[in-house]
Amino acid sequence: MSFTVAIDGPAAAGKGTISRAVAARFGFAHLDTGLLYRAVGAKGGDPVAVARGLSAADLERDDLRSAEAGQAASRVAAVPEVRKALVAFQQAFARRDGGAVLDGRDIGTVICPEAEVKIYVTATDAVRAHRRWLELREAGETVSEAEVLAQLQERDERDRARTSAPLKPAADAVVLDTSSLGIDEAVARAIDLVSARR
Ligand code: C5P
Repeated sequence: MSFTVAIDGPAAAGKGTISRAVAARFGFAHLDTGLLYRAVGAKGGDPVAVARGLSAADLERDDLRSAEAGQAASRVAAVPEVRKALVAFQQAFARRDGGAVLDGRDIGTVICPEAEVKIYVTATDAVRAHRRWLELREAGETVSEAEVLAQLQERDERDRARTSAPLKPAADAVVLDTSSLGIDEAVARAIDLVSARR
């Protein structure tokens, strides 16, 4: 039987960590849909053709988590034909047997409007920038926190302003603000929301 958990929200709000923990707790499969857009942006060339021909190997590049790949992703993600080319794969993943967690920007609004659970994870700009800066530093990137904040705001603005599947909470999503929550607490709240629907 399928069971879909849709987790959306702006960059570095904690979606990935929460999604992985929810998937592990319930034995669901997890798809980080941002990776699809990152892979399209990183490959270069005509993004529509790249999206149509995306392969599993494209998702394994080790530079997909960089800030540069994030910016490239948000540029190609504004192209309606790119989004269209990636819909069927995401919807099939969402409806697989055994349950699935998908995290992204438009999962609850466009990809899986019928998802059993929808969570919109958010946090203040400053908190998100600090978290992303720590991650990038850990990965060996030398960048200032102010620069990370500016990039994050630029990317969120582009994601919110685009006409095709803009970033916004679904009308029936539960908003989970992680600004002042530790990771364990944020994960526990998400798990409670899923448990309540099972
Ligand atoms: O989540 P992540 O930071 O990896 O996403 C990179 C970019 O991919 C986002 O800024 C957004 O433009 C795009 N994206 C999207 N829809 C999704 C997931 C990601 O437009 N479902």
